Amino acid sequence: MLRRMRFVLRGLVACVALVGCSIAVQGQSGPSQTAPGQHKWAVVVHGGAGVIERSSMTPEAEANYRAGITEAINAAGAVLDRGGSSLDAVEAAIKLLEDNPLFNAGRGAVFAADGTNQLDAAIMDGKTMQAGAVADVRRTRHPISLARAVMEKSPHVMLVGAGADDFAAQVHLEQVPPSFFFTEHRWQQLVEELKKQGVPVPERPEGAPAPPAKPVAFIETPDNHKYGTVGVVALDRNGNVAAGTSTGGTTAKRWNRVGDSPIIGAGTYASNQSCAVSGTGVGEYFIRLTVARTICALVQYEHMPLQAAVDEVVQKQLVAVHGDGGVIAITPDGQLAWSFNTPGMFRAKLSEGRTPQVGIYRDEP
Ligand code: ASP
Repeated sequence: MLRRMRFVLRGLVACVALVGCSIAVQGQSGPSQTAPGQHKWAVVVHGGAGVIERSSMTPEAEANYRAGITEAINAAGAVLDRGGSSLDAVEAAIKLLEDNPLFNAGRGAVFAADGTNQLDAAIMDGKTMQAGAVADVRRTRHPISLARAVMEKSPHVMLVGAGADDFAAQVHLEQVPPSFFFTEHRWQQLVEELKKQGVPVPERPEGAPAPPAKPVAFIETPDNHKYGTVGVVALDRNGNVAAGTSTGGTTAKRWNRVGDSPIIGAGTYASNQSCAVSGTGVGEYFIRLTVARTICALVQYEHMPLQAAVDEVVQKQLVAVHGDGGVIAITPDGQLAWSFNTPGMFRAKLSEGRTPQVGIYRDEP
């Protein structure tokens, strides 16, 4: 009983501190009691976690990352502010990030060892608990929209490879040549990584621009393959949460490796009974620990405040197995949280009536 009361108190404090929410802690009152259309909307965005430090960032690169994340969160906020659904907000923000070459999703995705871009994405609707996911997509401009089409227009949850692209064409999603996703800095990252591993470097992909005369500047860090995945979680005015994640995976991946991002319950999860989560980091660990679902289970069944739940999984369970990464999360009663065990994570949160809070490094709020 005492323990339960402590959770309630902690939940209320977290809730008020984070977004000034007006309703009781989730789990005590069940799903939100607020009338449809009366919720305060909110959204959280990430652009990948990893060894992202001030010393490895030029002021210009930092400004560009902040601008990219800010543009995405504002786009999601605009959808939510005009009464749009959390699903629409998630998709709108991720589409922008997929088109932004700075992030490891869509154009700007990392390369697999064979010199191809193999894209993964997932989306989940907390209201219906329907989900859609795709892996190893190579020709569809917006993998997040394809994941949504899988959810809404097919009887399935997950499609992979050529079949996923075929389905995209059938539902009239924009198809592009694989070279559309090419960026020079990601190509250089692949070349560096393969040389380090002593593995042959493939030919430059067909349709890629000619190599530049001068080498391109890119942020070189010990784990430069581990950041840039994008994810969004949102809460709309009707009290519905949604989550989405999109990624190129990890540099020099082989054998059609698939990470956590498109695996429902690992890198992406949403339920109005608990929370919505999007993760980023070394996918293998996120899959083994079913990170996203575990966080939401702690909220739903252990009645943990959201921040405590994300910290439990990211700072304890993942750290215990050396799983680097982070998550963003949101609850139907308006708690927002993030947690990462890496030096940095590109991230932002925004709730109705506020301005976006954007961060990169650990020491930022
Ligand atoms: N989690 C992604 C994967 O393992 C990579 C990342 O988040 O950067 O595919």
